[in-house]
Order: sequence, then C-alpha cells, then structure tokens
Amino acid sequence: MIKQAIILVGGKGTRLGDLTKATPKPLLEVEKGVKFLDVVIENFARFGFKDIILLAGFCGEQIEETYKDKNIHGAQIRVIIEPEPQGTGGALLYAREYLDDWFVVANGDSIFDFNLRDFAKDPSDDFTARLALRQVPDPARYGAVKLENNKITAFLEKNPSLQGPALINGGVYLLSRNVLKLIDGPCSIEANIFPKLVEMGEIEGQEFNGYFLDMGLPDSYAQSQREIPAWRKKPCLFLDRDGVINIDKGYTYKSDDLVFIDGIENGIKAANEAGYYVIVVTNQAGVARGLYTLKDTDIFHAKIQEKLALNGAHIDAFYSCPFHKDGNIPEYTIDNHPDRKPNPGMLLKAFSDWPIDKENSFLIGDKDHDITAAERAGVRGILFNGQNLENLIIENLNENS
Ligand SMILES: [Mg+2]
Repeated sequence: MIKQAIILVGGKGTRLGDLTKATPKPLLEVEKGVKFLDVVIENFARFGFKDIILLAGFCGEQIEETYKDKNIHGAQIRVIIEPEPQGTGGALLYAREYLDDWFVVANGDSIFDFNLRDFAKDPSDDFTARLALRQVPDPARYGAVKLENNKITAFLEKNPSLQGPALINGGVYLLSRNVLKLIDGPCSIEANIFPKLVEMGEIEGQEFNGYFLDMGLPDSYAQSQREIPAWRKKPCLFLDRDGVINIDKGYTYKSDDLVFIDGIENGIKAANEAGYYVIVVTNQAGVARGLYTLKDTDIFHAKIQEKLALNGAHIDAFYSCPFHKDGNIPEYTIDNHPDRKPNPGMLLKAFSDWPIDKENSFLIGDKDHDITAAERAGVRGILFNGQNLENLIIENLNENS
C-alpha cells in the first residue's frame, strides 16, 4: 500500500500579485482558519497517505513554521526546503533520499477530487509514471493528453487550435523511484521527463472526473473561497466494525482473524466514489478487559486498510472505544463512558474532527446499540442483519444523491 505523498509547494505565486508577494499561495485561506494547503493535506491523509512531504522553496520557512512535524489526521508531515528553484524534477531529485519506491506527487495549489486509492492501487514494472487525467471542454489553455489503452502516447502543447473535449493532465502523479534515473539536475517533470517516458512506453493515464480547481489565478482563488468549503463538507457513512466490516469472532483483534463480510469492500468503494467520508466507530471492550491493547486494534485497522487498498477502497478514520465497566485495566474501567455505544461520543468526535454533512450521513451497525448511538448523534441508523451489504450501502448512498 503506497503511503507517501509529495506535495509541491515551492512555487512563487506570481500570477496572484500582491496576495502572494510574501506568502506561498497554498497558505492563503479558503475559509476562516483553513488554508488551501490544509485542505490538500486533509484529503491525502484521509486516503491513508501517512507520510506527507511538503517540497517547499519560496518563503519555505512559512511552510515549515505552519506544518513541520505536525500530525494531521494520522499523517506525519515533513517539510523539505530546496535552496533554489530547480523545477519539479529538480525538486524531486533534491528530496531523493526521502522517497519511497512508489509515491504520489501533487501540487499544493490545486485540488483534483478522485479516488486516490484506486489510482495508487497496483504499481508494477509496466510503468514508471501514472497520471490522473481529466476531461475538459476547453483544452486550449491546458494542453491535451492522448491516451490509448491506458498508455499515454503524446502530450499536445497548449495552443488556441486545440479542440475539446479532450483529456488534460490533472497534476496528480503516481511515480516510481525509477523516475530519478532520468533526472540529473534542474528540470520540469512535465516538460522534460514525461515526454521521455512516452518514448519509452512507460507512462500510463487514468481518467477521473471529480471536482477540479487550480487556485493559482486571481479569479480561481476567489472561486476556491466560494467552492472549497462546500466541497469539503461531505456526508459520512459511519460503520460499526465487528459484524459489519469483519466477521465477529468475539474480541477479534488478530490480523489472521480478519475476514471481510461479503460486499463490504465494494460497498465502501462505492461510498468513497460517491464523495462520502467513511468512518468506523467501534466498541472495543476487550481493551478494558486486558485481552488486547489499543495498539493491537491499530494494527488490525491497518490490516483492514491494506486489504481494502487492494480493491481501491479506503476508510477515512477509525474511532475505537476501549472503555467498559467490567474491565481489568484500571484506566479503561469506566461505567457508561460517553464514547461507548449506545452513547454517541465517537460520532460526536468525528463531527468535530471532520467537516461532515450530518444531515445526509448514516450509520450501519449490526446491534441495537449502534442504531441508538446513531440516533443520539442525530444521524440515521440502519440495522444490518445479513442482507446484501453492498446493496444496503449503495441504496442508501443513492438516497442522498
Ligand atoms: Mg458489531
């Protein structure tokens, strides 16, 4: 499972004039207290990219001050400042000692909304780069990409005679470390490296059609302030864990005991692609009882993510409640803890951690206490009792769309 995302934030936002004279453009706010880059990072974090590297340049110390060593939704943030601008290729070369075998690269001043897990699903020797492509009606201002059977066969430079609709480079790349072999100094990945990969037949494209915004122009920055707050606010599919995601073997926590319930992978993927957050809320009294630790539950959840990732699906966040009145571990032995379902504490935490559209959210659980917790949190609760789980999820997603 690919866990590294490299976000390019080194650019000098000259097109934005005074606004970015002394501020890198990804640090501009799209809503009160929320920077554009916060939104980009949040999106990678929720897709399970745990290692996020910000490649900074212009005013890099401001990026460092804001993000260095922070943990955002489970992602650890590192900041690397290049001493002088070397283009996107040179920036990657500068960061080479930090790069994994495979990583995703994106720009810090644009948002392209699609299923990043599906995009990063099956790296192989068949390609060195995979680009996320988007169809637009007006390719003249972007330049177009020719795609044949998932392989990119040409890049057509921007020019007024380009007719749409056509595919454009959406600015999000899945790259193998092998790309570094083609870089020996300052260069542009897009202008210098990708054409070489076309010649070598080692560049793929995958088409997505989600929300797309480049905030690098004055009117599109204003557009980002109008649109991003609404885009961030998504409905949530809350899932109970044992008996809904995995077969409940009674205090399940060993990775070897993970068996998915039929339909859950496709159901989660459908929710991912319908623009829902997917958040697990699970009672884990076994922690209070001393049968396993919270760390064990984290390992089990990482295993769930790994397995889902093979199918291009993911869970945005897990909330576990380790408390129970009959525990053996004193710190977790608490009666009627606000997080323990049927209490709604875990859902309420999720509401404060994520911009959730509560009204259109729902929960699927296999016990009455799940449904009660949902109702107490003000969301619809749906009881799963062995019906087709994939359909159950999809029907309810459709109801919201
Ligand atoms: Mg259950």
